[in-house]
Amino acid sequence: MDGIICSVVVPVYNEEEVIGETCARLRETMDAAGVTYEILLVNDGSRDRTAELAAEICREHPVFRMISFSRNFGHQIAITAGMDYARGDAIVVIDADLQDPPSVIAQMLDKWREGYEVVYGLRISRKGESTAKKITSKIFYRFLRGMTEVNIPVDVGDFRLIDRKVRDALRLVNERNRYIRGLISWLGFRSTSVEFVREKRFAGTTKYPFRKMVRFAIDAITSFSYKPLKLASYVGMALSAVSFVYLLVVLWQRLFTDTAIAGWASSIAVSLFFNGVILIILGIIGEYIGRIYDEVKGRPLYIVSHTLNMDGEQRISRE
Ligand code: UDP
Ligand code: MG
Repeated sequence: MDGIICSVVVPVYNEEEVIGETCARLRETMDAAGVTYEILLVNDGSRDRTAELAAEICREHPVFRMISFSRNFGHQIAITAGMDYARGDAIVVIDADLQDPPSVIAQMLDKWREGYEVVYGLRISRKGESTAKKITSKIFYRFLRGMTEVNIPVDVGDFRLIDRKVRDALRLVNERNRYIRGLISWLGFRSTSVEFVREKRFAGTTKYPFRKMVRFAIDAITSFSYKPLKLASYVGMALSAVSFVYLLVVLWQRLFTDTAIAGWASSIAVSLFFNGVILIILGIIGEYIGRIYDEVKGRPLYIVSHTLNMDGEQRISRE
């Protein structure tokens, strides 16, 4: 052990406009916190000047270390890699765009010293984000909570401190479609929260377009709930029951009355409706099967192209 108390993990993807400022502020905050620290920049396959700027920062200040991926693997994987390489007794994950205020880290460290093993940042309000994003995320967190038995706190992102023990436990979780905040809740441990106001992005634009948000939400739900599958079979059963009753009605009409129905429109409507339901159910099953396929292939979670200031040290191994 080389006595590093706190590791700060920062996933960065095309953040050339903010990385300089973020690194400067993090350094200030950590110096003021009076602990030995390292700051791990995980370059998630950026295609702008982020990597060069980060390399310069690493050269100037050896407290910074960098892991560069061979391509974009995604935010959750970048966080995972940062945690794998972290040497601190406490590990903080923070976004690169200064939406999570670095000053909160000091409060997190205080809670950690009191003995909490997970200290998550609770967003009491969010500035500078679109109403649509705020509303969808409010709904999403509550919906997810209703879908799963795991106690995942609402309005909490990845901005949090975890103890080394929690990291070591998380390392045993090799899932590919990772929803880290859920996984950490699943692990358990003593946790608490510190409140903060989510700031406006310092510069640049969001790296989570709608498409990625949907993917992320589906990952979260499928990782932590079978309810969509159950729902699919319940819907199937309910519809079969209704259809059976309707079949009896049709037979009765055909055999015992002469109101034989001309209904082309109604048969088309019924057929379209059932086909729609079947396709949706197949889609839900497909989402799960795709994820099973990902797991079975067992590819590595990420590929590192190069590192800086790592002193030839290997990351902890992920079998
Ligand atoms: N990020 C990443 N890989 C990605 C997308 C995002 O490492 O594929 C990083 C990004 O650089 C930032 C953090 O994840 O540090 C959160 O992204 P962003 O601020 O764009 O998301 P938002 O706050 O808009 O949800
Ligand atoms: Mg952001």
